[in-house]
Amino acid sequence: MLSKETIDIIKSTVPVLEIHGKTITTTFYQMLFDSHPELLNIFNHANQREGKQPQALANAVYAAAAHIDHLEDILPVVKQIGQKHRALNILPEHYPIVGENLLGAIKKVLGDAATPEILDAWAQAYGMIADAFISVEAEMYQEAENAPGGWRGFRPFVVERKIKESDVITSFYLKPQDGGAISSYLPGQYITVRVQPDNDNESYTHIRHYSLSAVPGEDYYRISVKREDAAPGKPAGLVSTYLHNSVNEGDVLEINAPAGSFTLDQEQNIPLVLISGGVGLTPMISMLETVLKEQPEREVTFIHAAINEGFHAMREHIEQLDTAHQPMKSYVCYEKPLDQSLCHKIGYIDLPWLQEVTSKESDFYFCGPVPFMRAVNQALQAWDIPAERIHYEFFGPAGSL
Ligand code: FAD
Repeated sequence: MLSKETIDIIKSTVPVLEIHGKTITTTFYQMLFDSHPELLNIFNHANQREGKQPQALANAVYAAAAHIDHLEDILPVVKQIGQKHRALNILPEHYPIVGENLLGAIKKVLGDAATPEILDAWAQAYGMIADAFISVEAEMYQEAENAPGGWRGFRPFVVERKIKESDVITSFYLKPQDGGAISSYLPGQYITVRVQPDNDNESYTHIRHYSLSAVPGEDYYRISVKREDAAPGKPAGLVSTYLHNSVNEGDVLEINAPAGSFTLDQEQNIPLVLISGGVGLTPMISMLETVLKEQPEREVTFIHAAINEGFHAMREHIEQLDTAHQPMKSYVCYEKPLDQSLCHKIGYIDLPWLQEVTSKESDFYFCGPVPFMRAVNQALQAWDIPAERIHYEFFGPAGSL
């Protein structure tokens, strides 16, 4: 338990630290990787460079500190981040290293303003926050390991099939190399891939999450990966281009077990609306196939937005599902169609159009690029959809959106 004095110090310093939030966490990452370069095998280098990871960490630490006397209130957030930590194989021994460098960064950025009392209070608070994460994550490791077909850490999987789905998206069907069972998952969850690309003189392993893009219950996992090509001022994505260009059928990838809290609520029976932009369609396909199989009477509207038909993955599959299932409707939006007859809407999804094609009394799930997600979220809020019926996944570090 923290003393009242310590809690008061923490609460009064959170706003100050928030002002310097990103500077502190950017300094923190520099210090962390200087002293522990082996951790570069775990953390996403692009997210560091773009500041997404420091932002996510800053948000998480300050949110936790602001709730330090009632951490249970932010348990859902702790669990969401804990899922990512479990998928990355973050272990209890990593926490003291992070704590030491975070305090070092606070001291460096705040200078004399960081008095010994303040640093001591933060050391105590960090210890409590770390314990909360460690205990939540311990349960998650147990669950992943004890599930039928489950395992802990990374397990080798063979690429059984590699299928091109669009100009930029390719699916990989993965089966365990040991021939054993695999754990099931909830529609919307992701698996985690660890690779060491041999095409870039890489000395580090790189870890990325990929949503499972098929209905659960098969003897394989399927992921569908968008190739992040280079553009002016932007290098090609490391892992996605490696998977597309260098990983072929028969090759082996290391996989961590399914994780994630963005999952379909199958207790609900109200109409379901699944909205995706670009490669954000992966968790939506899994949810769609699941609801058609398990809740065949449930009304479901599947909306997909893409640049044009060349970028549209799994179009025929969705059309076949739509034809075969009466309570399903599907709509396509193209930003710049090559053939206008292939889409229902040209341009971006907006509120008037959503009101035309969906019912307000629905459960809404969405996933896609950040500007798309902001637009859909704003539209749903402007429509007064209650927060508990709005669900989304963001393909970046939790807490950085
Ligand atoms: P990175 O090397 O990580 O680079 C990411 C982006 O940053 C690229 O666009 C790159 O051009 C840019 N970048 C890198 N360095 C710089 C720099 N110095 N300056 C400017 N820009 C830079 N992806 C999928 O394709 N399918 C999925 O189903 C999927 N599911 C996901 C589920 C979750 C829960 C999460 C968190 C992510 C998911 N992702 C998915 C995203 C995926 O994990 C990777 O982030 C994605 O494949 C890009 O990884 P990369 O290694 O190719 O790119």
